[in-house]
Amino acid sequence: MRDLSIYIHIPFCVRKCLYCDFLSGLARGGEMESYVNLLLREIKKQAIFYGDHRVISIFLGGGTPSLLPAWETGRILERVREEFLLTEDAEITIECNPGTVTAEKLENYITYGINRLSIGLQSTDDGELARIGRIHDYGSFLETYRLAREAGFRNVNIDLMAGLPGQSLASYRKTLERVVALSPEHISAYSLILEEGTPLYVNQKEYTFPDEEEEREMYELTGRCLEKAGFHRYEISNYAREGRECRHNKVYWCRGDYAGFGLGASSMVRNVRWKNPDGQADYAACVEKMEADALNRVAGITETETDRTARMKKICPKGMDFAEMLRQTGRREVQILTTQEQMEEFMFLGLRLTEGVDLQDFQRYFGKTAEEVYGEQISSFEKQGLLKREGRRLRLTPRGVDVSNVVFSAFLL
Ligand code: SF4
Repeated sequence: MRDLSIYIHIPFCVRKCLYCDFLSGLARGGEMESYVNLLLREIKKQAIFYGDHRVISIFLGGGTPSLLPAWETGRILERVREEFLLTEDAEITIECNPGTVTAEKLENYITYGINRLSIGLQSTDDGELARIGRIHDYGSFLETYRLAREAGFRNVNIDLMAGLPGQSLASYRKTLERVVALSPEHISAYSLILEEGTPLYVNQKEYTFPDEEEEREMYELTGRCLEKAGFHRYEISNYAREGRECRHNKVYWCRGDYAGFGLGASSMVRNVRWKNPDGQADYAACVEKMEADALNRVAGITETETDRTARMKKICPKGMDFAEMLRQTGRREVQILTTQEQMEEFMFLGLRLTEGVDLQDFQRYFGKTAEEVYGEQISSFEKQGLLKREGRRLRLTPRGVDVSNVVFSAFLL
């Protein structure tokens, strides 16, 4: 059986943060329920293609998934369990923003089997939070964190951001120290990216941002401070206690199979990539098409073949049939990755991980050594001290991490 990770997109937020260009919007009355109904239909219909997969992780992301009433979250997970085979130790994460959960909601999450919480804090400085339009202050984060621990969450991630307007090295250090003192199991620390069209981008002249040098210092400070506190960096922007790396995200970097459900969700299964429609009406049409008979004809199955063994025998989502089904049902950017594209992804996604890429795996997957394909790039970066080989692994050096984008782009053939 192949491993599968499931991403479920919940596109609702209390209000839009000023830097946000994610697919999310304000939740209006009744919208959540009808969206969840669509999701349940999509999960049921699409599950028929994954009879030979077992689910190792589920990630409810957004948006603000914690805005959903708890019973709606329960309905989603129940549907996934009905339709998919979950491993006993599956990692099930929900993203949550401070102030959007109660003790009761968190207890319900535990009952539904959610075993990892990812809290979007970004900063402990209330001025910085206000400047980027977050809905919460540090106090409401502390309350959410306390409730999460009391409810029994033993695997908590905290999201942080560097490069915020008005942020100084000293205030960033304070954020890191305060978060470390809470002893979460995982910390993600990304830099703010000014996305075109967002209010922060449009009004950027009104703010003072840390300059490049300060941002680099913040990045280095993150590493020093978190490593001293017992976290290890396992990816460029992600730190974990031993054994607490995010299994779900590692699937993306290691090019495992993942299926995305919901508005705009991305998927990659057996080297076929696609995206769900971005608009609500298009998404609804996509689900309806999946339910139509035409889909069953393409896949060669019938409504009555609901039992898992029968599906496994008959369904093999590869090649044109699967891609054609995706196109017919309104999925966007359906792409069957060429061997060259697979090699490129193998390198630039795998090099994001501190452990780097496994050169023997490269040869096993592609029938060629990495040196045959990327000999020039590898030896040039080794000479410059940006890449280092250790046994069968090739990874970025600390200097390589600093210029990782340059290294990654060199692996695009
Ligand atoms: S909470 Fe997240 S998804 Fe929602 S608006 Fe803010 S940044 Fe965007």
